[in-house]
Amino acid sequence: MEQFIFVDAAQIVTCEGPARSRRGAEMSDAGVQTDAAVVIEGERIVAVGAQPHLERDFPAATRIDCSHAVITPGLVDSHTHAIFGRARYEEQEQRAAGAGYMEIAARGGGIHSSVADLRKRTEDELYDLALPRLLRLASYGSTTIEIKSGYGLSVEDELKSLRVVARLAATVPMRLVPTWLGAHEIPLDYRDTSQRRGDYISMLLNELLPIVATEKLAHFADVFCEPGVFTIDETRTILSASRRAGLGLKLHADELEPHGGAELAVELQAVSADHLAAVSAAGIGALAGSATVATLLPGTMMFLGKHNQAPARSLIDAGAAVALATDFNPGTSPTFNFPLILTLGVSQLRMTVAEALTAATANGAAALGLAGETGQIAPGYSADLAIFDADDAREIPYWYGDRRCRSTWARGKPCHA
Ligand SMILES: [Zn+2]
Repeated sequence: MEQFIFVDAAQIVTCEGPARSRRGAEMSDAGVQTDAAVVIEGERIVAVGAQPHLERDFPAATRIDCSHAVITPGLVDSHTHAIFGRARYEEQEQRAAGAGYMEIAARGGGIHSSVADLRKRTEDELYDLALPRLLRLASYGSTTIEIKSGYGLSVEDELKSLRVVARLAATVPMRLVPTWLGAHEIPLDYRDTSQRRGDYISMLLNELLPIVATEKLAHFADVFCEPGVFTIDETRTILSASRRAGLGLKLHADELEPHGGAELAVELQAVSADHLAAVSAAGIGALAGSATVATLLPGTMMFLGKHNQAPARSLIDAGAAVALATDFNPGTSPTFNFPLILTLGVSQLRMTVAEALTAATANGAAALGLAGETGQIAPGYSADLAIFDADDAREIPYWYGDRRCRSTWARGKPCHA
């Protein structure tokens, strides 16, 4: 198998450590090495450490020049909604002019417009729209990308979305992790009576979930648990059934109001509770005492013009494991730029650079149940690397909005260069 040795890097951010999330103070050590090299063979990392030793031990390896570059583990984007049809750029100005969620929906925008649009499109169209988006995410450093369904909201259209993810996963070098988000919203065709709400949940659990599980179309189930969307009790019902069907669990929790979403994620032993801009003190305490990763999405709050970012500092100081992700989606976070999320992590969430890098790698991996597979530059791990034009890791969030990523390698293959 061909070997490559990545040499002359200014720094290597290894995030090396145990195969689990980094919690609290553990997040402040990103394992930065200097005068070091990385060797990969096939799909695996085989060595990281002092460059002269590795040059001696692997003389036949093909050399990759990384001068004036910082190597990090391939970034792990653990929360995206990348399967959608058209962009929703018109809503940005409407929001700036003061229109709220309900008014934008009344003008034909919002999530229901993405649902109506996706339902009209074929699997091939959705594939062709998603493929360049995923390559663009990789061009900013992401090598593992979680992708949720949730703009179909019918048996046929949710399966269509997840089948697109499966086709993409077989095509691109990046690792794609499919999540079933049939409970993203109650679709308009189930809103004529309150009884219909229960009918939608029955459809999810009795018709859709068995197919998702049998065809292994998703690794995780997720629910948008928020007042006015899915209640705590409904979320518990949907996720408990999903777990019985063999899926791991994730939760959209406490984005807008503190109502116990984080506590429910901990109760159900979900791999992650995501958003958390409005998490309560009790929710912070519950996360800190659990293995559930707190996944924060600061790009969403910035893009929506909100000022209440998630309390990353309180979560980390309490001992929780924090991950960062893009929340890439057409309504509230249309960005491919994961390093920009690191900028927001430092400048708005008041994380250190080491904490932000850990959040985007080892903890993102833990939020996908992949802590033993990716998110670290360590022997045995997947050969997932991002190489940034920089002489110091602190430049990655510093040059904000810039695309400093020189190349990205996933499972030993270049995704872009
Ligand atoms: Zn989301």
